[in-house]
Amino acid sequence: MTARILDGRPVAARLAEDLSARSATVAARIGAAPELAILRLDDEEGSGVYAQSVARAARKVGIEPRVVNPSPSSSADDIAELIRGLNGDGRVAGVVIAQPLPPRLASPSLVDLIDPAKDVDGATSVNAGRVSRGEPALAPATARAVMEILRYYEIPIAGRRAVVVGRSPVIGRPVAHLLLAADATVTICHRRTPDLAGETSRAELLVVAAGEPGLIGAGMVAPGCVVIDCGISVRSEGVVGDVHFAAVAEFAKAITPVPGGVGPVTAMTLVAQAVAAAEGLPD
Ligand code: NAP
Repeated sequence: MTARILDGRPVAARLAEDLSARSATVAARIGAAPELAILRLDDEEGSGVYAQSVARAARKVGIEPRVVNPSPSSSADDIAELIRGLNGDGRVAGVVIAQPLPPRLASPSLVDLIDPAKDVDGATSVNAGRVSRGEPALAPATARAVMEILRYYEIPIAGRRAVVVGRSPVIGRPVAHLLLAADATVTICHRRTPDLAGETSRAELLVVAAGEPGLIGAGMVAPGCVVIDCGISVRSEGVVGDVHFAAVAEFAKAITPVPGGVGPVTAMTLVAQAVAAAEGLPD
């Protein structure tokens, strides 16, 4: 293997370094620990795992998680009322809706009720717009986590040919905008891209967020490429990414593992954005 392994754990640890002190300063000012509201809109295992991992990261840095799990029969109006209440609550620094959302509630208009200043997972149209304009914003945590990994390992971005596989609002689109803002030349690929291998093999920096295990194989990556694999799929052999790790690591310059790459950085990035939002809470 020639690739440098881009371990996410030291990146998360570096991000966490000053967060406890900063949240303690906010707690002293507002008279209580700032809270991160995690809205679980179903009782499925997936949203439970998400809520737990965010809550764990929050506690580590002195942010109090408040998991809100309304009855599964709640209407969109009930949830809207709940979100408005959290927006107006002076102890709540951030509001996230646990992924995945139940299909009946997965509407941008519901997410857009979150106050953009408390939208610590960059889910609202306001923050998506700011990210797309290259303005400072609370960005989707996974997209921001990719940038944190590149920064920690001092991987140059400006002037590089970056290829992003995936165009979801959660990862692909925002990461493409963040790379563009960092002066990369960016190509975005999706299912209708006719020659995916042709596009990916021109990349100097490849970010994959497709949700298809093994999508990116050895013949699709140029020697010397830096590969960031955001994919998380649970298979009988364990958690796997979108990149055929063993094959690509033979000649890539650097690669994130799955698990242990983007995942651990994502939760801490979200919490870092919650601390930043807490600093904006009024006394
Ligand atoms: P998504 O909403 O399903 O989007 C997947 C994107 O990949 C779509 O744009 C899709 O193209 C594209 N795609 C899928 N198969 C493709 C193929 N064969 N060729 C080209 N493009 C393809 O998924 P997501 O929410 O962005 O998540 C992507 C992955 O990241 C999943 O494995 C998810 O579990 C993982 N994830 C990781 C983290 C983390 O912290 N590391 C956080 C969230 C999600 P179309 O638009 O044409 O359909």
